[in-house]
Amino acid sequence: MEHINIKLFPIVIGVASKNLKINNKQKNILKMKRILSIAVFSFTLFQFAYAGVIKVVTTTTDMKSITEIIGGNKVSVTSIATGYQNPHFVDPKPSYIMNLTNADLFVTVGLDLETGWSPQLLSSSRNTKIQKGANGYVDASYGIGLLQVPSSANRAEGDIHIFGNPHYWLDPLNGKVIARNIANGLERVDPSNKTFYEQNLQSFFSKIDSNLRKWEAKMAPYKGSKIIAYHNEWVYFETRFGLKIVDFMEPKPGIPPSPSQLVKVINEIKSNNIKVIISSPYFTTSSSDVVSKQTGAKELTLATSVGAFSSIKDYFDLFDYNVNQLVNALK
Ligand SMILES: [Zn+2]
Repeated sequence: MEHINIKLFPIVIGVASKNLKINNKQKNILKMKRILSIAVFSFTLFQFAYAGVIKVVTTTTDMKSITEIIGGNKVSVTSIATGYQNPHFVDPKPSYIMNLTNADLFVTVGLDLETGWSPQLLSSSRNTKIQKGANGYVDASYGIGLLQVPSSANRAEGDIHIFGNPHYWLDPLNGKVIARNIANGLERVDPSNKTFYEQNLQSFFSKIDSNLRKWEAKMAPYKGSKIIAYHNEWVYFETRFGLKIVDFMEPKPGIPPSPSQLVKVINEIKSNNIKVIISSPYFTTSSSDVVSKQTGAKELTLATSVGAFSSIKDYFDLFDYNVNQLVNALK
């Protein structure tokens, strides 16, 4: 919208000043008045387009993608982590704090996904609008049906994933919950555009439903397929699409593969005739390489977030990519 107005404004003013030179015949005055009022209207729109943009900072690219879908041209969104970075471990940079200082809305995946870096960045920003509990703070995990919530006995072990598995955006139906939370946040900080956000939310919901039918149909022949994963970040995806993750390369979430774990995984692959080991762009392939050589299982690097690979531009591309990769590997 802003591009149209930038172009329209000088043209309208040009036409208006040309008309000024003609004469004061009533017809022309009326015409001029009309043109001037269009000029004033476009100028107002032009100002509004810039003044009204809601500045959003998200911790991850998946939150960014969904915010852009719901917020459309009313928002400008930056993500702190890239799509090929491990979201548990992000090195803080001063530019992240700068963005947070100027933000109207902050969106976090929550639980303990970003616990090592985002709370510190948030407090360093000193932006009261986006602190936990403020109108501009969105915890996208609100209302998610969490999987793998550990018993209190396990919490003492100091692992990551202490509140339940935080990789919930990898179930497209959870994308709807995330979108609802983001829309609520946008409506709190920008109530005048509530109708706009609600309309985008409804179209997002329909698009998720129609795409999910397509993804489920593609995955249906492989229901129950046993696989190995590197890190425990696929449980929501696994549950939605009926896969069976037998074990992980990491003995515990966040703990690198150990020789004894590799031996265990090799035996499991052999005894279950497992065809695929799935990993993520931010893990080294060295241990999967060893296991793959010993067993013949195929290594597959899937996308855990939007932007993991250049072809994955939005939340829908993420599932298109992963479903297609898996279908090809499991054939
Ligand atoms: Zn994790």
